[in-house]
Amino acid sequence: MYILIIAGPPGSGKSTQAAILEKHFGFVHVSTGKILRDEIEAKTKLGILAEKLIGNGNFVPDDIACEMIINVIKNHPESKGFVFDGFPRTTAQCSSLKEILTSNELKVDCFIDLEVDESNLIDRLLKRGSESSRKDDSDISVIKHRFDLYYHHTLPVSEFYVGEGNYFKLNGNPEIDKVNSEIMKILPDYTIN
Ligand code: ADP
Repeated sequence: MYILIIAGPPGSGKSTQAAILEKHFGFVHVSTGKILRDEIEAKTKLGILAEKLIGNGNFVPDDIACEMIINVIKNHPESKGFVFDGFPRTTAQCSSLKEILTSNELKVDCFIDLEVDESNLIDRLLKRGSESSRKDDSDISVIKHRFDLYYHHTLPVSEFYVGEGNYFKLNGNPEIDKVNSEIMKILPDYTIN
């Protein structure tokens, strides 16, 4: 089972690239943000909690995010692999992921970090906000708050994987296909169908 993490700031194209890789390799794409938005839509207990946090640009608690990952892994025992998008977002989630994977005899095989200029990120997020009902993409102060959280809490996650030796930084500014072909150069052939 191949474990791939696509990381980067809000608007860096994580979900877009993860969706392409899901289709190409037959991996399960796990977006913790999407799971939470589905819970909000379904008005579950978790959704009601998440709605306020996400709308203000804050994270959901680490234990909730980790629980979602445990469930996804449990529910896909036959999967060829997973692409995690938006997780881990804090160093605490990072440590928990290591424990979760180790207990399943798995490890992170590859961590891809998408780097995008902030002006480009803001343009992309505001465009997404105008095309969707995502409140967190529609308000510039919420977007800036998400960048702050990213720099303070999520960037240290990248440093952790640099130390693990499976870390790749990529320029996420170019168009979707170009970024995808750079990702394909990194991923080993044996994962291809
Ligand atoms: P983006 O990366 O563009 O901000 P996501 O869909 O990954 O979009 O996340 C949307 C929101 O969902 C985040 O701002 C956060 O509030 C919440 N969220 C997603 N993943 C996590 C996580 N692993 N831990 C805590 N909160 C999360």
